[in-house]
Amino acid sequence: MSVNWNPWHGCVRISEGCRHCYVYRQDAAWQIDSSRVRKNSSFNLPVRRQRNGRWKIPAGEMVYTCFTSDFLFEGADAWRPQAWEMMRLRPDLQFVFFTKRIHRLEVCLPPDWGTGYSHVAIGCTVENQAMADYRLPIFNRLPIAHKLIICAPLIGPLDLTRHLTHDIEEVSAGGESGVEARPCDFDWIVSLREQCVAADVPFSFHQTGARLIKDGHIYRIRRQFQHSQARKANMGFKPKEWPF
Ligand code: SF4
Repeated sequence: MSVNWNPWHGCVRISEGCRHCYVYRQDAAWQIDSSRVRKNSSFNLPVRRQRNGRWKIPAGEMVYTCFTSDFLFEGADAWRPQAWEMMRLRPDLQFVFFTKRIHRLEVCLPPDWGTGYSHVAIGCTVENQAMADYRLPIFNRLPIAHKLIICAPLIGPLDLTRHLTHDIEEVSAGGESGVEARPCDFDWIVSLREQCVAADVPFSFHQTGARLIKDGHIYRIRRQFQHSQARKANMGFKPKEWPF
């Protein structure tokens, strides 16, 4: 089971992958300025209790964290220490967040982070080769208990071979959504999978995006089918000794 925890909302674009950011797309329909970050009413969700004293989020849940912003966004620096503290108080949950600001992690960490909270996974997002070559060397030297590479929205071919270290727990790739989505070429997905197989790193193709190029054709895929179509492509890879 999983829950979403969005402690704050809003962000500022930082790289090409942000061009059609879904936070901006959704906010535009309500004339909301996405660049003005605000705390959400669910800010303290992980430590909320029911009337009987039990946690609202029961033990064992996966908590998808900060998907209406970037957890390491500068505009949320004042609130992040409390967010870390809530994570620290709930070692019975598994938190995961994705970031395009991995270069900020060191200055944002709580004092007791050590080699990384064992129940927090961090996904470093890379959308093209330039961002992979900039962000992944930083990511690879950071103390993080669970490391994921998120290639999304994938807007170009990627060579990750020199970045696929033994502690990467998964590479996940997906195309871009939305009416202005840039196409994702299925050959890029095939190539990433091959790189992961060669490095013995798990791989998943989590969504096609709205425009997928395959065998020279561009296919338009409606939002509700983008995950299921990716699953049907059967591109996942797990090394034999993968325990999960
Ligand atoms: S970092 Fe994420 S949330 Fe922030 S603008 Fe870019 S895509 Fe949107």
